[in-house]
Amino acid sequence: MAAYEFNAPRLFVEASLQAGGRIPLDRAQANYLLNVLRLKTGARILVFNGRDGEWVVEVEVEGRKSADLVAREPVRQQTPTPDLLYLFAPLKHARLDYMVQKAVEMGAGALQPVFTRRTQSQRVNLERMRANVIEAAEQCGILSVPAILDEADLPAALRALEADRLLVFCDEDAPLANPVEALKAAAAELTAELGNNGPKLAVIVGPEGGFTDEERALVAGHSPGCRVSLGPRILRADTAAVAALAVVQSALGDWC
Ligand code: SAH
Repeated sequence: MAAYEFNAPRLFVEASLQAGGRIPLDRAQANYLLNVLRLKTGARILVFNGRDGEWVVEVEVEGRKSADLVAREPVRQQTPTPDLLYLFAPLKHARLDYMVQKAVEMGAGALQPVFTRRTQSQRVNLERMRANVIEAAEQCGILSVPAILDEADLPAALRALEADRLLVFCDEDAPLANPVEALKAAAAELTAELGNNGPKLAVIVGPEGGFTDEERALVAGHSPGCRVSLGPRILRADTAAVAALAVVQSALGDWC
């Protein structure tokens, strides 16, 4: 993605974006622009809504705590949401916030909490996750807003995977081997089988306590799948998220 020359703040908005269109701000957004950034009428920032690309908009202050934005011109065309599903066992708050934000920065197009036997937290706040997704998209120049799928238990999450979606299983017990080569080989085999232009992708990372042997067999048995090692050291789950997505993106994703 070409780095845009605009170093303005970026906001995600729900409203449609077209020239001259007015965009209402919620109180938190108005407070951020007026009282944190101290923007005045006429100031220009970037907005995106995940559908209409990225636009330059102008601030119109309405009062101490309210403002509208007026869309002026598009600066980037909308790009499709990456078809990369990130499945993870939810972690405790701060680490989960971190992992969600990193998955978005690394190009996940959808995130799904998956409950396993050793998952630390037995419920997830999907709204909090969505707020982290939006914050990461705003901060990293991302135009789409990755979807947060409803949480599922491991068997259900695996059953929901399409037949042409290659499941990358990050397994600390996998034999040490170059994950990029393993991924390229698995994708080539699936592409030859399906006769299409490359598989959809899913990546799964287990909980801090790891998968149980039964869970490991279930994931390793999923087809199409590719079991990869992320090196000789045991990574914490949030570290594994970044490492796994970096490897997948560099081997099969949008890094090449
Ligand atoms: N079972 C170990 C580690 C779990 S780490 C323990 O109990 O401490 C959490 C998750 O990160 C694992 O389920 C795996 O998906 C991933 N992970 C960590 N280190 C890895 C490695 N070296 N290779 C592949 N995956 C790894």
